[in-house]
Amino acid sequence: MSKSSSIRLPPDLVPEDGRFGSGPARVSVEALDALVETGTSFLGTSHRSKGMRSLVEGIKEGLSTLYDLPEGYEVILGVGGTTTFWDAAAHGLILKRSQHLVFGVFSSKFSSMVAGAPWLDEPTVIAAEPGSHPVAVADPDIDTYAMTHNETSTGVMMPVGRPGSTDALVLVDATSAAGASVVDPLDFDAYYFSPQKAFGSDGGLWLSLCSPAAIDRIQRIETSGRWIPPSLHLAVAVEHSRRGQTANTPGLATLFLLDFQIKHLIEMGGLAAAESHCRAGAKIMYDWADSRSFASPFVSNPAQRSHTTVTIDIEQSIPAAEIVSALAANGIVDLSGYRKLNRNQLRIGTYPNVTLDDLHRLAAAIDYVVERL
Ligand SMILES: *Cc1c(COP(=O)(O)O)cnc(C)c1O
Repeated sequence: MSKSSSIRLPPDLVPEDGRFGSGPARVSVEALDALVETGTSFLGTSHRSKGMRSLVEGIKEGLSTLYDLPEGYEVILGVGGTTTFWDAAAHGLILKRSQHLVFGVFSSKFSSMVAGAPWLDEPTVIAAEPGSHPVAVADPDIDTYAMTHNETSTGVMMPVGRPGSTDALVLVDATSAAGASVVDPLDFDAYYFSPQKAFGSDGGLWLSLCSPAAIDRIQRIETSGRWIPPSLHLAVAVEHSRRGQTANTPGLATLFLLDFQIKHLIEMGGLAAAESHCRAGAKIMYDWADSRSFASPFVSNPAQRSHTTVTIDIEQSIPAAEIVSALAANGIVDLSGYRKLNRNQLRIGTYPNVTLDDLHRLAAAIDYVVERL
């Protein structure tokens, strides 16, 4: 048996909930209990029923409230998660040429997919080293700007905004920021995400908060004659979403848990309260790392540090993988850095469902393990 798996944490260092992943992330036990409560009346029933439609309508209304969406903005949803939305956006939102800010694995996946789409022009890519973020450059040849609110792979957050005074669309991958970050809807045209991160639900669904300009663009491409695979057709998603539906069968549990979490976030005081909770949680971990000789925040500019996914570099002589496995043996899971980033790193999801107490215990637990490795 390796040393790391024989370390037993004293009970007062064990968090109440051991889930600290960056996604899928902590689903509240209250939400799970409420789902179990539904017994024979929900899971296993038709996704075309009236009750189902009102669940989707509730999600749309809840997100409109949470984001204070202006008149004309619409909540669109479909099956497949953010990765699927990228494909749908390449077919149905980008007219000809997009500009991508690339600063980690997720932002680079979208831009390389677009680069391979034969019906689009070669995209402009503005890249930054992992651990920082690039800045968009206004360009009259660009019809779509692609940003990432929080690069989950590196723990870098960037401000959302319109580059210059162009009428180009601004698409924002907000998968690990949405539900935990204040944003002005006038600064984006499509703010899209999957619900398995701050929204404390399960995967397999995408949601997009769309401006009237985004809806116009979808309709304009729809009538242009461009061929679009039906399951990626945003005009179809718009039609279904307006009726409280999805084009094909969604994960019903995902919708249920999402609805529960939206209501929870509204009750806790909305996005401002959620963001300040996450900031307090992230600060616990950044302050801890700053005060330890063997740890340091990966993102050097404090202004670019994420408040939902905290990345912490560990001194080379202490393998982060050993810390991760020692903690896992004590029920504390999903702390690995993003694999492709290839650093001696821990990554901690500090989403709204993660309590500050648990983060204090986590920091103390890491200290305990490191002393004994
Ligand atoms: C998790 C994540 C994705 C991928 O989401 P899927 O639901 O797995 O497609 C994309 N972008 C960002 C920023 C993410 O955090």
